[in-house]
Amino acid sequence: MKNILYLIANDNNRNFITAADAKTGEEYFCCACNGKMHLEENQSVLRFIHNSSDVNCDPKIALRISFKNLLHKKIEACLNGGDRLTMRWKCNSCNNPHEMSFYGWKGTQVRLDHMIGACKTDVVLLNRTDEIVLAIDIITDSKLKNKTPQYYKENDTAYTQFFLNSEKTLKILDKKRLVPSFISVCLQPPECTQCGNNMEMHHVDICSVMCYECGAPMQLASLEEDRSGYLNKDDVEFARSKGAIIEKRTFSAGTMYVNVCKKCNSLIGPLHLGEYFSEGYDEYEFGYYCPECSESVSE
Ligand SMILES: [Zn+2]
Ligand SMILES: [Zn+2]
Ligand SMILES: [Zn+2]
Ligand SMILES: [Zn+2]
Repeated sequence: MKNILYLIANDNNRNFITAADAKTGEEYFCCACNGKMHLEENQSVLRFIHNSSDVNCDPKIALRISFKNLLHKKIEACLNGGDRLTMRWKCNSCNNPHEMSFYGWKGTQVRLDHMIGACKTDVVLLNRTDEIVLAIDIITDSKLKNKTPQYYKENDTAYTQFFLNSEKTLKILDKKRLVPSFISVCLQPPECTQCGNNMEMHHVDICSVMCYECGAPMQLASLEEDRSGYLNKDDVEFARSKGAIIEKRTFSAGTMYVNVCKKCNSLIGPLHLGEYFSEGYDEYEFGYYCPECSESVSE
């Protein structure tokens, strides 16, 4: 593994601080060895450095510790109703792409450094009755890659890994959609309590743009259609509450919902959304819905 930098350290209150947010001249502590650190100045990359040059410290450990603590915090915030957080990966078992939302899935609480016998897991997600529904390890050692600890194998518990090979992997945590490097089992979405079918994830993406016709600012929504090509009623209501004007229009090819500019009435159809959404947008993740039982828009 190439040289890893110390990009995160603890402040006096044991909060994890990135070098970009740190202040020159203040005292920080190493996440791995707890040694005193300071912000190193005049470097192309802002980073922390130990005050003393003869410390016996492994930056890989510091990277792992900061990653797991930040991940734990992020999941906890999501379970408490804060920012939504999902994971998306390609399944080893069924070969399909899967996505799971931490909010509304089986887990209701998250713990750091959970011990089961002699086996320590970095982050575990538990359900209401304290059963582990997802175990997460942060690994930097490639020998451990894709290996499920015996306990999780025997109990058929979902086990996932984030493999870190440079400090750049900390950027994974800036996203609302995490991409783990390994998941041991095929994670099925929860079942609908009304019809028993598997639920699906849905999100609404909103992008602030200028109308291509008149230049007025407008909110553009990108919505997912269900299996029959209908839009979900809640999604449409939500997009409208964010300022998007969504109307039904009839074309030679049929009827569809489009985004409309409220000033000049120009419309931006689904075909043109891609170029706008490549610019950057807000993702709102709604968790699970049942494609059979949920209501679609009808007007
Ligand atoms: Zn250290
Ligand atoms: Zn699968
Ligand atoms: Zn249903
Ligand atoms: Zn316009």
